[in-house]
Amino acid sequence: MAPSIISHSEVDQFLACERRHYYAFGKPTIDEDGNPATGLEPKNVSDGLFRGNAGHLALETYYKHLAPHSIKGVPSDEVFAEAKKLALATVTGAMATNPERMDMLLGLHVVLNAYFDYWLNDSNGDRNWQFLAVETEFREVIDGDIEFPFKPDLIKRHRYNGRVVVVDHKFLANLYTPQEIAIQPQLAKYVGALRNLGYEVDDAEYDLVCHRVLKTKPYDSAQSLRRIPLKLTKKRIETSLEEQHSVVRSIALFKSEPEIWAQEVRRAANSYNCKHCSFLNMCVADLNGEDTSVMARYEFRANTYGYDKKNEVEV
Ligand code: SF4
Repeated sequence: MAPSIISHSEVDQFLACERRHYYAFGKPTIDEDGNPATGLEPKNVSDGLFRGNAGHLALETYYKHLAPHSIKGVPSDEVFAEAKKLALATVTGAMATNPERMDMLLGLHVVLNAYFDYWLNDSNGDRNWQFLAVETEFREVIDGDIEFPFKPDLIKRHRYNGRVVVVDHKFLANLYTPQEIAIQPQLAKYVGALRNLGYEVDDAEYDLVCHRVLKTKPYDSAQSLRRIPLKLTKKRIETSLEEQHSVVRSIALFKSEPEIWAQEVRRAANSYNCKHCSFLNMCVADLNGEDTSVMARYEFRANTYGYDKKNEVEV
């Protein structure tokens, strides 16, 4: 049997709402080449997802440009300036192709401009680090029948104390509270899986970016940008990975019986989960026994998120 390839993000969706996960990863559809596929995504992505993707692309561009220079020594100011220029060009490029999102992208441009300057000049900022891996895919095989693919945003090593840190960038309206950081499992899973693969990893860090830009006052970098180190105990890492493996097995069971998947999955069905759910209209129509085939065809397309079985790249 082919291994189940299930990421942290897929587990996260399953835990939020089994039915939403089914729509995104299990509902039969046809892809753009006319081939059978499973899982849907909205044709129009939300502003939040669009901003997050655009922000991540800019940071990926920035750190990929810095990475080879940072291994050799502290990059020069010219190299930092080039990296910033390339990164901001991804945002202006997005403006050209998405004029309807101009205001949001202008705001993102302001935020990223401030971000690059702030972390260049901070005493523990980007001059102090070697950037080892940017959006590099890793894959842990568990018990021979599960693959856990993951792609950390950044892995960096402190130039002076040698500590290796896994970083996740987050674009948020409100920065996480300490308790929100304390409960989230993503980085604990990444650190545990990297260690299982034989990599030496010391710490993890949330790189928090507040995307709110006010028209009435300048962007306040000191208040809006934070890098928060995580206190990852051995127990937290073990528990986070055990829970990932347990949920993956539940998902793999559904995937092995697609004919009963749609009937068996439950709805979370509460305002917290549902008000921002891309599948709300479809879920309500299904609940009322209505035909959703037209909606599925015109409002959604085959899900493009996932990890390729053969080529092992995120698509
Ligand atoms: S609308 Fe609510 S119950 Fe339905 S799939 Fe979305 S989150 Fe789940």
